[in-house]
Amino acid sequence: MRGSRLTLALSILSLVFPLGQAASDSAGLVRRADVIGESVRGRPIRAIELGDPASARTVLVVGCIHGNECAGIAVSRLLARGATPTTFDLWIVPNLNPDGYALRVRQNARGVDLNRNFPSEWRLMGERWDPQYSGPRPLSGPKPGSRGGSSFGSSPM
Ligand SMILES: [Zn+2]
Repeated sequence: MRGSRLTLALSILSLVFPLGQAASDSAGLVRRADVIGESVRGRPIRAIELGDPASARTVLVVGCIHGNECAGIAVSRLLARGATPTTFDLWIVPNLNPDGYALRVRQNARGVDLNRNFPSEWRLMGERWDPQYSGPRPLSGPKPGSRGGSSFGSSPM
């Protein structure tokens, strides 16, 4: 993804899955984890935010969006255990597709390619369970969660 798409994707996640208030230190840096939604089958989708929420620079790292391509989960967990960035805001979503991961398929449990389901440049593509099925409309894949349960710590996963 290009940088602008990263920012857009983060903005979309923020709108769809608003997090609670940040726990911040004296420098305004945060280190927090929360459940930001749940999968079609009710599995929690977690996010970790590290860094400066007031920064103009935001970086989004998604460890797994295609359930059969999830080597990035381990990388995102290492990143989440690392130092808190001081010059940008880092959002980490280790697994955006826990159902696909459990099923060992690319798509989510509804057969939607979540990477083709973002509103940015969305268009109808394919049919359910096609490798690049866009879903019937943008953001049809994730189910915004209302499960708050904020937990803050250095090893959220
Ligand atoms: Zn992929």
